[in-house]
Amino acid sequence: MKSYDLAVIGGGLAGLSLLYHLHRAGKLAGQRVLLVDPERKQANDRTWSFWEAGSGPFEDIVLQRWKGVTLHNAGANLTCDLGAFTYKLIRSTHFYAKTQEAIADVAGLERRYARATDIRTIPEGVRFAVDGETVVAKQAFSSLPHPLDHRAVKAPYLDQHFRGWYVETEEDTFDPAVATLMDFRTPQLGQTRFFYVLPFSERRAMVEIAIFSNDHLETQEYDRLLGEYVAAYWTKGGYRIEHTEAGNIPMTTYSFPRREGKLIHIGLGGGDARPSTGYTFYNVQRKMMQIAEAYPRLPDLSPWPERHLLYDATLLRLLQNGVLPGDQVFVGLFRNNPPERVLAFLNGESSLVEELRLMSTVPLAPFASTFAKELLR
Ligand SMILES: Cc1cc2nc3c(=O)[nH]c(=O)nc-3n(C[C@H](O)[C@H](O)[C@H](O)COP(=O)(O)OP(=O)(O)OC[C@H]3O[C@@H](n4cnc5c(N)ncnc54)[C@H](O)[C@@H]3O)c2cc1C
Repeated sequence: MKSYDLAVIGGGLAGLSLLYHLHRAGKLAGQRVLLVDPERKQANDRTWSFWEAGSGPFEDIVLQRWKGVTLHNAGANLTCDLGAFTYKLIRSTHFYAKTQEAIADVAGLERRYARATDIRTIPEGVRFAVDGETVVAKQAFSSLPHPLDHRAVKAPYLDQHFRGWYVETEEDTFDPAVATLMDFRTPQLGQTRFFYVLPFSERRAMVEIAIFSNDHLETQEYDRLLGEYVAAYWTKGGYRIEHTEAGNIPMTTYSFPRREGKLIHIGLGGGDARPSTGYTFYNVQRKMMQIAEAYPRLPDLSPWPERHLLYDATLLRLLQNGVLPGDQVFVGLFRNNPPERVLAFLNGESSLVEELRLMSTVPLAPFASTFAKELLR
């Protein structure tokens, strides 16, 4: 039976981020480390957008930055200057290449391109099987998905399903200095439906539709909505679709198990996605850097401050029950607050005073009664 000091099960965003930050912090020296993932991560399978103040750990692979964003619904067109924040975009190909290149020279790192199965915590650490062989690690981090059935979850739960096109237009169409953060100008059908547009140049952009709903659409239906949106608001001319991407992020305040003995769950399966928005990239970096700094001790592992989970449970419940339309909530937040206050809040980095200011701008009656119910729950 092979044994390791550290095992990282799943080498996607969270697993590679953790190893990258541990390596940069000098914590992998002299360690026997195992990384297990069936995939050789190279694909252009995710475009990560997020906002942060100042420089982040992956500044050199940020493909595009925006200081201005717009939001639209049937009654409002907002243009916001992000102040101290910058909205950024990283492509998975660049992220996978950078992180894997960095850890390639770690002397004690072994990679297995296989599935980990039968993962169990034991008194000595964590035991699991790889290709039929049993291995043991004193400490393990897993980013395997945590299967959830929304019908069985008591906490509020909405899937965020999305599909996007990388387009190249025949005419100048986009302003590369301004990203469209949320554009709700499409029938909402009792759900929260919006587009976002991330331009790279006057003629190239990623255009994506995101829907908060537990009912998913057929691919051709997302495509129909994308096509109608591009024609209505961007170009009547021709364009070419260079690449597509699609996915789903569970938005829920369900209490994902974070720690079982020496097994720590990270990434989506560890609750690192912000429940009210689905944004995950920034929080994964923050948490993995905290773990790397403290390792081999462990820092506070909670993915989000408790009170933020309560705010998000309130918002998700209101959206899920159709009490408040999502377009009014999100556009209202940006219309009635400085963008920096909203962005710091959504990153889980606001002060209580700023949160109270923000809460004073939302429809009081439904928020207060649902907040009280979620607090009791
Ligand atoms: C298309 C897409 C776009 C997204 N865009 C954004 C965005 O713009 N901004 C944002 O903040 N978030 C975004 N997200 C959400 C989130 O950032 C990603 O889902 C992110 O990849 C989650 O990281 P993770 O490590 O939890 O999961 P993953 O990156 O999926 O990594 C999990 C890894 O586990 C491996 N694995 C699975 N089973 C096993 C097994 N049995 N043994 C070993 N390994 C296994 C998989 O091969 C995979 O590599 C997006 C998600 C998707 C799908």
